[in-house]
Amino acid sequence: MLSVLSHRSLLLAGLCTTLVAGAVASCGGADASSRLTTGAATGFDGALALERVRKQVEFGPRVPGTAAHRAMGDWLVEELRARADTVIVQEWTHTTADGQRLPMRNILARFRPADAQRVLYLAHWDSRPISDRALDPAQAQLPVPGANDGGSGVAILLGVADALKQQAPTVGVDLLFTDGEDWGSFDTNTDVLIGAHYFAEHLPDPGYAPLFGVLFDMVGDEKPVFEQEGHSVRGAPEVVQRVWSTAQRLGHGAVFTNRMGIEITDDHVPLLAKGLRVIDVIDLDYPWHHTPEDTPDKVSQASLQIVGDVAVTLLRDLGK
Ligand SMILES: [Zn+2]
Repeated sequence: MLSVLSHRSLLLAGLCTTLVAGAVASCGGADASSRLTTGAATGFDGALALERVRKQVEFGPRVPGTAAHRAMGDWLVEELRARADTVIVQEWTHTTADGQRLPMRNILARFRPADAQRVLYLAHWDSRPISDRALDPAQAQLPVPGANDGGSGVAILLGVADALKQQAPTVGVDLLFTDGEDWGSFDTNTDVLIGAHYFAEHLPDPGYAPLFGVLFDMVGDEKPVFEQEGHSVRGAPEVVQRVWSTAQRLGHGAVFTNRMGIEITDDHVPLLAKGLRVIDVIDLDYPWHHTPEDTPDKVSQASLQIVGDVAVTLLRDLGK
């Protein structure tokens, strides 16, 4: 996604001082008690999610056109076929602005595929070919390992798939793994969000209209703070309200803050443009964003647990 400098760390430092005095959930939101209890309740396994972040990084950078990308895609399809009712693979070749031909795969895992009432969750599974935010220019040409940027969102969706395999949802659920999110230039909007654009033009059926959708991207930071992303608030405010109020009910109000965030170019944008009600849950305040340091040691099991619990609870609430 688009990288934008933020002064949030500075603001947070100030906020923490006042929060601690008021004995509100620990600063940065990692409330230990809710973190330990909600996992068992939702069936989302934070430890396994972190394990899956490591697994993805072990494939190597999932840069389209590489062997690591192909192997990771094959693994994802296999994992999902063991859990979902149907898996649809959208396969195509994308020609970049400079003429490279990239093999692309979107993977859509469906639960209760015949249901008209559905929820869509998505995450990108590719990783970025260059580290254009690396401070050392020598590192700028290295690919991003993508533990948090790519890996964390995929781990959330796989954990949701586990929970739905254990206990089927009461509505249809689609888990979409998009390809080519992070390939090109966000400055010029060239060759980025490739899979999301493709999905928007090749929906599973012509009347496809999920009740709501959530994109999970960069959700594993050890001090997660999700501001309400600009495109989401403008395009699907009722979904932001639904997700944030659910998180706050679970005790994660310090993580899912009511603060208004910036606009971030991410996979939800082409889907919003298509009329789908999809928002982005993202924490861009991650010092290793688009650097070779985006590795699994920067990803927190507790953070994955919080986000996974929210994701599963949103689905379970629909059956009440
Ligand atoms: Zn990225």
